[in-house]
Amino acid sequence: AHMEKNDMIRVLNENHTDFLSLQFTDIPGSFKNVTISADQIEKAFNNKCMFDGSSMEGFVRIQESDMYLHPDPDTFLIYPWNTQSGQAARLICEIALPDGTPYAGDPRHVLKRALKKAADQGFTFFVGTECEFYLFQTDELGHPTTETNDTAGYFDLGPLDQGENARRDICLNLEQMGYEIEASHHEAAFGQHEIDFKYAEALTAADRFVTFKMVVKSCANENGLYATFMPKPVYGRAGSGMHINLSLFRDGQNAFYDESSQNGLSHIALNFIAGLLLHIKSICAVTNPLVNSYKRIIPGGEEAPSLVGWSANRRGTLIRLPASRGKSTRIDLRNPDPTCNPYLSFALLLSAGMDGINRDLLPPPSIASGESFEKIQKNTDVLPADLGEAVQFMKSDPFVKEVLGDLVFHKYVEAKEEEWRQYSTSVTEWELRRYLNRL
Ligand code: GLN
Ligand code: MG
Ligand code: MG
Repeated sequence: AHMEKNDMIRVLNENHTDFLSLQFTDIPGSFKNVTISADQIEKAFNNKCMFDGSSMEGFVRIQESDMYLHPDPDTFLIYPWNTQSGQAARLICEIALPDGTPYAGDPRHVLKRALKKAADQGFTFFVGTECEFYLFQTDELGHPTTETNDTAGYFDLGPLDQGENARRDICLNLEQMGYEIEASHHEAAFGQHEIDFKYAEALTAADRFVTFKMVVKSCANENGLYATFMPKPVYGRAGSGMHINLSLFRDGQNAFYDESSQNGLSHIALNFIAGLLLHIKSICAVTNPLVNSYKRIIPGGEEAPSLVGWSANRRGTLIRLPASRGKSTRIDLRNPDPTCNPYLSFALLLSAGMDGINRDLLPPPSIASGESFEKIQKNTDVLPADLGEAVQFMKSDPFVKEVLGDLVFHKYVEAKEEEWRQYSTSVTEWELRRYLNRL
């Protein structure tokens, strides 16, 4: 709910809130935080709080390194939990240069720019995320292990173990923060969970997603567990994905729905799908940002997609179309994982779909659910095999640079190329096991 500055100050005083946390996301997607005490709140609301941008990954010195935090009043939230040192509230901020202009390296700004472009054509973009994660035990030193303490599987209602308790805690806290939880269940693998909350306009959805991850991590920690969003933490076990449900609205109507068409999908929905399929390989370095991400989206890998196609219900396919129509007609994109920067990802996905609309592209025929993988694979493209390949695709498609802007694009490519170089030149445990005593 939108609040005016004075309302927020009043609420903070009434709740005896001692700390205000000013938050933003950097280019790689880490959620950052500057905590100020109550006596500085006035200053924060007057856009006078700043931080040193030159020490932040992906941020650059322009002329001076001071960057200003402009709190977005729509993101005001009082945390439902009390820390030992008192109660805290937060505001997500936009990043501005000393002269007040938006900083080009602010991912939230990149998303707002893409949303504005679609809005100029009458479209509002909605996003619903389905996030999976593992809860692992920690060792004596409190460091995360890959040991789980449950033996439950998909949708299992196990005995109430630590993991179930932690998940309940997460949901309770989220609900108190205004989230509507649509589903919360055990996932396929031991120790793996999923929580889905109600879709929202894309900017809100991205803000909620970064906040959600923070809540998951801190509740897990309270319960003596470690939550990880790493896409493939254990070899041979299901990876953790973040399916993204996408829809466009125009004049209050779901623009993907057409009652009169055979499958209930509008021409615009087909355009959007075509745009996604066209650009997904070059967006992958953002939606699947880590070396480890590509160990999840392998052909035949536990329900994670590898084929660049669409289908009503085939799970290994990139795009699935959930059966519901009318207001909830949507596209379920299945390759992204929860380590992606949601602001940059949503900006790229929307813009890819809009490109399909503006160029009136149509997708290839959809993939039937019964078709054998081998047969489909012969005439269907696959997602990039690794981060190195994904960055090459990203660089070869001018569309990505246009959406992200020069600064974010170059910083991102530079960081990912270095990550890939480090990984490819390191000598792994696998190599030692395989070669050391044989050659
Ligand atoms: N864990 C699977 C993935 O990596 C998804 C499983 C599912 O939700 N059906 O995408
Ligand atoms: Mg799932
Ligand atoms: Mg799903």
